[in-house]
Amino acid sequence: MRKYGITLLIILCACLSACTNMFEDNRSTESAFDPYIASFKAYAKQYGHNFDNTPVVMHFANLTDGKAGQCYMHSNPIYIEIDRAYWNQLEGSSNKENLRQELIFHEMGHGLLDRYHLNDQLNRSDWKSMMFGDALPNNCQPTLNFRGMRKEYYIEELFTQTNQAPAWSTLPEPDFSQVTEYELAKLSPDFCPYPLLKNESIDAYLANNQVVITNKKDYEIAIPLTVTYPTQQDFYFEVTYQATANKNITPESGLIWGDNTTTNLHYFSIDQDKHAKVGEITCMYPFLDFYNGSINNQQNTVAVRKQGNFVYYYINGEFVYYNDTQDLRTGGNLVGISISGNTTLRITGTVIKGSQSVQNKQATARNPFALPNPLPAKAK
Ligand SMILES: [Zn+2]
Repeated sequence: MRKYGITLLIILCACLSACTNMFEDNRSTESAFDPYIASFKAYAKQYGHNFDNTPVVMHFANLTDGKAGQCYMHSNPIYIEIDRAYWNQLEGSSNKENLRQELIFHEMGHGLLDRYHLNDQLNRSDWKSMMFGDALPNNCQPTLNFRGMRKEYYIEELFTQTNQAPAWSTLPEPDFSQVTEYELAKLSPDFCPYPLLKNESIDAYLANNQVVITNKKDYEIAIPLTVTYPTQQDFYFEVTYQATANKNITPESGLIWGDNTTTNLHYFSIDQDKHAKVGEITCMYPFLDFYNGSINNQQNTVAVRKQGNFVYYYINGEFVYYNDTQDLRTGGNLVGISISGNTTLRITGTVIKGSQSVQNKQATARNPFALPNPLPAKAK
């Protein structure tokens, strides 16, 4: 009997030891996350919190339902899972550090700051907080302009829940009427800045003072204009057109400028679900996807103005957004348009103005090229 008791004791000890080991394992965090956790804790201190002795367990997982991360709130210790495929995919994004930091700060916001999702928006459609999530208003993509001049605000808001609107969200529409600029190109009966090509990708022709361009491919393409301009200089670029789908899709189209898809290509596009996207193609997701009620399925005017390190975005004459570009790749001499697959644009107006009169209207246009398939942003 006594011997039997000792055996039981040995089995019990072995089990406890195994359980302890398992617990120890669970307490460890993958080292890839360490710098972001340390950064969160350092910022926390700056804003009056101390999480030095608060353990966080963060593991890679294979998450479903389009999730990039999830936090088990009120678990002890706080347990967070990060989707491995998403994390690895970000390796290919030129702003991967910001995207990874945003994801981990969001999840730690749930776990350590006890914050829930908040879908308030600021003046010009930016999220009020990096804690946005779940069903977003107007089906906006879960993507945040967490970089440049906006970044410090989002970190402060995470820790303080401040209701003070940041200055960049309340900028009045700037007056550029005194800016010296030269008209580089204008669509007119005498001049067409679009390549009138007919090939396996596009079919473009002039008819009744309109440029009609059809993207015959199933995917989005870029069409560089025949006019080139050094886009590190200031410029204004405006196109008025109607987009029509040739298949059962939501046409999306807009303006592009920069160099190419591997160096830098900035975009501002609209679609007929009344969404607009601001982004740069080497950054894997748009900086922002927002709703604008003035977008219609007849004719729209989209415009961008680059002035110094800022870009201002307009839809149908309304100043809808602005962005800083200091941390982004810039330069290149391409200006053009983007068109979703199986879509026709009827362009009735195009104006390009620049701070220098250096365009070359005789420049040979580059061929249209495919734009990377935009990935749906992931939820947090
Ligand atoms: Zn969340």
